Amino acid sequence: MPQPKSVLVTGAGFSGAVVARALAEAGHLVTVIDARDHVAGNCHTARDPETGVMVHHYGPHIFHTDDAQVWDYVSAHAQMMPYRHQVKARVGGRVYSLPINLHTINQFYGISLSPAEARAFITAQSRGAPVQSFEDQGLRFIGPALYDAFFRGYTRKQWGVDPTRLPASILKRLPLRFTYDDNYFAHSFQGIPRDGYTALVASILKHPRIELQLKTRAEDIDASAYDHHVYTGPLDRYFGHRLGRLSYRSLRFEHERVAAPHQGTAVMNYCDADIPFTRITEHMYFAPWEAAEFTQSVITREYSHSTGADDIPYYPVRLLDDKSLLARYDALARATPGVTFLGRLGSYAYLDMDLAIRRALDVGQHLTQAFARDRSPQVFVHPLCASESAAADPRPVIAAE
Ligand code: FAD
Ligand code: UDP
Repeated sequence: MPQPKSVLVTGAGFSGAVVARALAEAGHLVTVIDARDHVAGNCHTARDPETGVMVHHYGPHIFHTDDAQVWDYVSAHAQMMPYRHQVKARVGGRVYSLPINLHTINQFYGISLSPAEARAFITAQSRGAPVQSFEDQGLRFIGPALYDAFFRGYTRKQWGVDPTRLPASILKRLPLRFTYDDNYFAHSFQGIPRDGYTALVASILKHPRIELQLKTRAEDIDASAYDHHVYTGPLDRYFGHRLGRLSYRSLRFEHERVAAPHQGTAVMNYCDADIPFTRITEHMYFAPWEAAEFTQSVITREYSHSTGADDIPYYPVRLLDDKSLLARYDALARATPGVTFLGRLGSYAYLDMDLAIRRALDVGQHLTQAFARDRSPQVFVHPLCASESAAADPRPVIAAE
């Protein structure tokens, strides 16, 4: 029987928590640290003490997946309440339905096409080929008029660069429907944990072989005292940015208490370029089972900006320059034995929660097997491969030891 390993996990978000749990269940001793004063990373939720509304502190989080195993996993740690995400968009003083569906098309053009007519109509608007950039994809996907109205301004605000410099994969996240179905996601499972994401992640971390240390930075810990380190912080930060900084977008959240109801829906996107924020979230609508109870509501305006040295990185940008820098960090990661890089920041990939959990489960299993052979493996999610195809290809890319 091999000796239990001591493992340091940096980051108490979904990635860190899930891998920690897998290793603890396999008999290893795990220390999880996080610089913040709470668990759940960017998925953190907490009730506003004044209104009682469950607030998604780092932006709206809806759990959606086709991965039944991942759904069962979260359902074992929380009561997942049925939730169907609907988003509205304001464009030029009018309100439309998202994602682009038959209602949006008919509203936008002031017509009343059938599904087949709308398909032919949009196909006739489609411009350009082949698709490389976000803009190529937009023009081909819905044509210039809808693209300009719904995507050009919003995307410039969200990503801070012209959409011609962004990868098409960002837009491929969204469906186009020729029906009146306005479900924002097209996955088999969708829900919100009744008691919030922080309680869910706390439950994952609750294990006698997991020790949690909040308000603790990786930089202040001697990782060499552990047999292995799973790092879910930013890849470039791990290496002290020695090759340069990968670009991330950061967010500023402006929370406000207002009379309930305020906007009548959970998320309203503001697509016009001259409005400084991207969207307003009204949190009580993420809990439809309790929304009717509130007389006061909490809303959040979301502003996107580039990431300075002290800002929290939220979205990996993945411009062309980033890809070559990422390749160099990848080489550095491969030459760093005993560290696994994981998660949205550790693998510099646009991962939703379900994919973050899937990868952490797989890496947990891989590490467990490697530890069972009594070796401290160098194993890591290959940052370059965990990239644009991530949404399409949920398999983790794990380099051999
Ligand atoms: P994080 O949640 O970022 O956790 C990393 C943790 O590591 C953080 O707590 C951080 O403090 C800690 N850390 C980093 N560096 C260090 C260090 N050096 N020392 C100590 N601690 C450190 N996904 C969905 O599925 N549905 C959604 O609706 C959705 N909406 C989103 C909305 C926004 C605005 C954003 C930004 C993301 C959204 N996501 C959504 C994605 C979701 O947030 C991620 O999938 C998830 O947070 C990934 O978990 P993680 O553990 O990899 O990273
Ligand atoms: N997007 C847009 N207008 C909208 C909604 C989305 O331009 O009203 C673009 C934007 O670039 C965004 C991308 O489509 O980053 C993917 O949308 P999604 O809702 O998946 O973004 P998320 O905020 O979840 O990353």
